[in-house]
Amino acid sequence: MRTLQTIGVPTKPLPEEVDAGVVALKSRTVPAAQAVAQSLAALHWLRAAGCKQIYFKFCSTFDSTSSGNIGPVTEALMDALGCDFTIACPAFPENGRTVFKGHLFVGDDLLSESGMRNHPLTPMRDSNLIRVLQAQTTFKVGHIAYDVLAHGAQAIRERIAALKAGGVRIAIVDAITDDDLRTLGAAVSDLSLVTAGSGVALGLPQNYAAHLVHASHAAALPQRPGYRAIVSGSCSIATNTQVLEFIKSGGPTYALDPLKLAAGEHEVERAVAWALPRLASSPVLIHSTAEPARVRQIQQQLGVGDAGALVERALASIASSLVHVGVTQLVVAGGETSGAVVQALGTTALRIGPQIDPGVPWTATEGGTPILLALKSGNFGAPDFFTKAFTLLDRHERITSA
Ligand code: ADP
Repeated sequence: MRTLQTIGVPTKPLPEEVDAGVVALKSRTVPAAQAVAQSLAALHWLRAAGCKQIYFKFCSTFDSTSSGNIGPVTEALMDALGCDFTIACPAFPENGRTVFKGHLFVGDDLLSESGMRNHPLTPMRDSNLIRVLQAQTTFKVGHIAYDVLAHGAQAIRERIAALKAGGVRIAIVDAITDDDLRTLGAAVSDLSLVTAGSGVALGLPQNYAAHLVHASHAAALPQRPGYRAIVSGSCSIATNTQVLEFIKSGGPTYALDPLKLAAGEHEVERAVAWALPRLASSPVLIHSTAEPARVRQIQQQLGVGDAGALVERALASIASSLVHVGVTQLVVAGGETSGAVVQALGTTALRIGPQIDPGVPWTATEGGTPILLALKSGNFGAPDFFTKAFTLLDRHERITSA
C-alpha cells in the first residue's frame, strides 16, 4: 500500500494518491488523557480522509504501565468507532517478538526476562498480556490461541464470535510466524479497529487488493542525489554493533563527546567541519553511541535527562547543518534522536519507501528541505545496516531511473 506518514495530526487533508495514511504520535508515555486526546484527533483526521479501517499501532514489546496507554486509547477508539470487538497482538516474528499462550517473547526470553524488565519508563515485568492489558481497561480481555490460528481465518472468526458472546471485547492473539499474521489479517478484515505492533499490518494489504490503485509503485521514492550521512544517538546493543561494523568497514566516523558538549566546547561545529571535506567521497557517521558503562558515567556527571536532551539537541543541529551543506540521504539511529532530528529539519510528513531491514524503510520527507531519510529505532537492523541502507538506495535509484 502506498503510504504517507504524518508527524502529528496535520492541518491539511491526506493527499489522494495514497492507499494508507499513518499519523505518528508521541503518546506512549504521556498521561493517559493526553494519549486519548491525541489518538482521537488522529482518528478524526483519518476518518475524514476516508480511511476504512483504523490500526492503533503500539510497541512490539507492549510498552505500557498499569495506567496505560494501550488500554485507555483502545477503549476510546472503540467507543468513537462504535466498535464492539478488537484484537491486540504485538507479534513481530521477523524481529523476534512472538506471542504464545498469551505470553510475549522477545527473542528466546519471556518479556519479563528481557531487557524490557529494566526499561526506565515502561518496565515490563509480566509477560502475560491478558493480565497486563486487563489491568489497563474496564473492557473484558480474552485470548485467541495459536491452535485456533492453525485452523485458519474461518476458525478465528468463529472464535471471535464465541468470545463476543461471552462478553469479551479485546482479545490477545497468539502469533509465532508471518503465516500466522497473514491468517490473522484475513480474519480481521471486517473489524473497524485493529490494535497491534507493526507486524499484524503484514496481513492487511491483501484485504484491500481490489482497491489498491498504487500497489505497483507503492515503495517508489523520488530521487534525491547528494551527500550521504549517518547520525546516531542510540546506545542500544544493535546500534553499538552497527557503529563498530561501520568503523571496521573503513567508514569515516566522528565520535561526539557529551562531556565536551556540556563543557561548552564547540563540538557541533567541530563535527560539521570534520564532515565537510569527507562528504564528497563517502557516507560519514557522526555518533554519540557508547557502551552502557560509558553512558552511565556520562549520566552520573550530567544527569540522565540533561545528558539525553543535550546530545539530542547537538545531533539534531548537526543533522540540520549537514542537510544545509548538501546531505540529501540521511540515516538517523535512535527513537528519541529521530524525533529531535525530524523536528529540527521541519519535516511534516514521510512518504514510505523500500524496507532496508524489518521495520526500517527509506522515506522521502515533506516539509523543510526534501531529502531521503531512514529513521532506525535502537534495536532494529542487521550489523551492516548503515552500509546496507545506502546499497539499497543505489539499487533503488537504478530501478527508478530505468
Ligand atoms: P534508542 O532508540 O536506542 O532507545 P534513543 O535516541 O531513543 O535511542 O535514546 C537514546 C538517548 O540516549 C537519547 O536521549 C540520547 O540523546 C542519549 N544519549 C546518546 N548518547 C549518549 C551518551 N553517550 N551518553 C548519555 N546519553 C546519551
